[in-house]
Amino acid sequence: MKLARNYIDGQWVTQSSQRLKVVDPGKDEIIGEVVLSSEEEVHHAVISAQSAFPSWRATPATERIQYLFKLKVLLDENIESLARTITIECGKTIAESKGELKRAIENVEVACGIPMMMQSEFSEDISSGIDEFMIRQPLGVAACITPFNFPGMIPFWFLPYAVACGNTYLVKPSEKVPFTMQKVFELIEEAGFPKGVLNLVNGGKESVDAILRHPQIKAISFVGSSDVAQYIYSESAKYGKRVQAQGGAKNPVIILPDADIDVTSKIISDSVYGCAGQRCLATSTVITVGESKAKMIDSLIDSASNKIVGYGLDENVEMGSLITEESKKRVYSLVDKSIAEGGKLVLDGRKLSGSILMSGYYMKPTIIADVNPDGEVFQTEIFGPVMGIISIETIEDAIKIVNSGRYGNAASIFTSSGSSARKFRYEANTGNVGINIGIAAPMAFFPFSGWRESFYGDLHGQGKHAVEFFTQTKVVIERWPKEWSRKF
Ligand code: NAD
Repeated sequence: MKLARNYIDGQWVTQSSQRLKVVDPGKDEIIGEVVLSSEEEVHHAVISAQSAFPSWRATPATERIQYLFKLKVLLDENIESLARTITIECGKTIAESKGELKRAIENVEVACGIPMMMQSEFSEDISSGIDEFMIRQPLGVAACITPFNFPGMIPFWFLPYAVACGNTYLVKPSEKVPFTMQKVFELIEEAGFPKGVLNLVNGGKESVDAILRHPQIKAISFVGSSDVAQYIYSESAKYGKRVQAQGGAKNPVIILPDADIDVTSKIISDSVYGCAGQRCLATSTVITVGESKAKMIDSLIDSASNKIVGYGLDENVEMGSLITEESKKRVYSLVDKSIAEGGKLVLDGRKLSGSILMSGYYMKPTIIADVNPDGEVFQTEIFGPVMGIISIETIEDAIKIVNSGRYGNAASIFTSSGSSARKFRYEANTGNVGINIGIAAPMAFFPFSGWRESFYGDLHGQGKHAVEFFTQTKVVIERWPKEWSRKF
């Protein structure tokens, strides 16, 4: 059986006796096993990273990025097989898998600019003959803990910046989808990074706790659900670590009556149902304002019911499966709960037929109208292909609803009015905002923002925030009096 192993100190290792089965969610078939690393194995990886740090840190940034250039080429060359691995273990479509890999590669490209991005500030003559400047130095060993839904992309929000800045690194992928990082680390090995600079540690909670407690790990990047993000944030702080913890989401989109109906409903449908709704930037709540309700609902039902659902490797499929049987049961039951709270089921994706849909963890696009904004489901991250619709009369009330949720990851508006768009951009309490855009996913050179219960910390992943996160600043004030210099 295929086994997802650890990569420590430049070697593939299989110490752990604890294993977990890995399942293809689109077929409900076991595809392999993953090791669950003990505290001792995590320690082994940290020691390897710690030993590699002094010489990696002293390697000029211009040389460090040569490994990233090689990795970028290898990722490009292997995108097909990487995408297949993502689809098989994660259930999304092959086009979605390629899409996330492209976003991963963008981060490698941006991190290749580190020689310039790490440059700092210099003030001459802060007092007579005295200069002051700031240096950015790496922290040491850092680690990321990542979720199941983007196994190829999310580690790259952090990894390329961490090592480009001179840190050494540990990646702990989700135990549900360990095989993508296996392949990525084979490419990391081929790119020739020195031993110990990049390490892969597989596992679940026990491995995470060992990472959080380890005194030599200086910084933690986390992406996952909000309860775990909060735990990671407080535990990391307890152990004196720098931390950025991205949590869950429940993203609303407002449709004003002046929006273009056909274009808007197609974009929203893609935003709700992409990756079967298992995206932290998926639209979950659609807020129609005034007469847009009458215009939009039929069009949204139409776009949603036309989605082809099936096994992600089949080229014509537009929406794949959920990640586990448990997740499927949870999403199905949240639909019932929303109806019990007053919602009207206008499209039920729980009625399935056909051998594939009956074998994996599927759900077709679902729409619930008249969702109760005071109900529990409005505040719950469903993480499945379910669109909830709330209809109100004014943009002011729509923005109030956007700001009343517990999460603050993203929100969008569809309108042809510049002043409505500006009002929304100004008042929405979310870290990412879309205007006539369904998924406001920041490019690699912008921070992946997120507010309220969607983020714990201050510096986000990607771009300049990542450079600040992975470096510590040292301020130097210096004076070189002429009379202290030897005469030539
Ligand atoms: P999760 O929180 O269950 O797991 C994330 C990681 O934490 C995994 O590596 C897992 O091994 C570890 N983990 C799980 N439970 C733990 C515990 N009790 N103690 C310590 N570690 C633990 O998340 P998931 O189900 O893999 O991913 C889906 C979630 O991630 C959703 O809530 C989604 O919104 C969120 N997400 C957020 C973003 C963002 O940018 N904000 C991006 C992607 C996903």
